[in-house]
Amino acid sequence: MHIPFNKPYVSGNEAIHIASVISKGHLSGNGEYTQKCQKYFEDRYGFGKVLLTNSCTAALEMSAILADIKSGDEVIVPSYTYVSTANAFALRGANIVFADSLPNNPNIDPDKIENLITDKTKALVIVHYAGFACNMDKIVAIAKKHNLILIEDAAHAIESKYKDKYLGTYGDMATFSFHETKNIITGEGGMLAINNEKLYERAEIIWEKGTNRASFNRGEVPCYQWIDIGSSFLPSDLTAAFLFGQLEIIDRIQQKRIKLFDYYYDNLIKIANKYSFKLPDIPEFSTKNGHIFYIVLPSNEVRTKLADYLKSKNIHALFHYLSLHQSPYYKAVNPNAEELKNSQMFTSCLLRLPMYYSLTYDEIDYVVENIHAFFSDINK
Ligand SMILES: *Cc1c(COP(=O)(O)O)cnc(C)c1O
Repeated sequence: MHIPFNKPYVSGNEAIHIASVISKGHLSGNGEYTQKCQKYFEDRYGFGKVLLTNSCTAALEMSAILADIKSGDEVIVPSYTYVSTANAFALRGANIVFADSLPNNPNIDPDKIENLITDKTKALVIVHYAGFACNMDKIVAIAKKHNLILIEDAAHAIESKYKDKYLGTYGDMATFSFHETKNIITGEGGMLAINNEKLYERAEIIWEKGTNRASFNRGEVPCYQWIDIGSSFLPSDLTAAFLFGQLEIIDRIQQKRIKLFDYYYDNLIKIANKYSFKLPDIPEFSTKNGHIFYIVLPSNEVRTKLADYLKSKNIHALFHYLSLHQSPYYKAVNPNAEELKNSQMFTSCLLRLPMYYSLTYDEIDYVVENIHAFFSDINK
């Protein structure tokens, strides 16, 4: 067997929708499929307004402009996340203040946020790691109390809920990714969901290179002009057509991934205690979406040995983020950055197992057997 870490899943309908865009001739952004996808997300999840973007990174950059981040503003970001979560705000001149993870979950520790707030803090960014919700009651209350703009980096979190509401509906804004490693894909792609009504109008302008072209397209103004800063954040309608093909089978994709997650979980729980590794912590207020299946090993040494062992059996397991507070870019500017011990622990000890739509139960059995074999060997 050869089990890669990820395999993009394509239903077949994507090509039909792309052919339709080609035959109708509107290939650029904000066409028929862009509008269909945006409406789909607004209706299905209850977001205020959705704009498709070229990536989650682009959506984060839009959110930083919409949050009016200026040089010297402080933005609180978890350290255990992807570069873009912080970089989008650094691009606008913000000083990034990194927050630690919980001890048992890579998500931000809500009880450690208030200590980081100063009179310069303008925004709070959170990440729902592996599609598991952060504690949104606590986080929304902190953002309200300190008048912070709240942004959910929901790149992993499509279709997941905190209590009875979808992730991405709690923040002023939320960003999603359709990168080929995520649940719903377009190769490169993403979206910005906006829930704060005051930002709707400006968002559309920033999205279209700082112009009111979207309004012009609707026949509301006789010409379009340079109104604000912005960039080309919108994807081509070909990308939106591909996305629409994915949305037609979103229920099937999500159900299968959750089943695979549960199958891993139910099989690994039998040996996790014995071999001192941990399974994902699923908070009681969160649903799951089968985005990532990870385990947390007792040390970096054990993680490296296990990953190498699995690789020798043709199973590709991967570590994940490198704490951003220890990155070369951040350390050069902030040489005395504080230790964030939980983020560092996940950097050293978390391992992601293969997870994708076409993974089979037999393949999961093979992964689990080999994890078992690895630990029986080293415990001899
Ligand atoms: C994947 C990911 C991103 C970046 O998404 P792109 O669409 O590749 O720009 C940002 N944040 C997190 C948490 C991610 O996992």
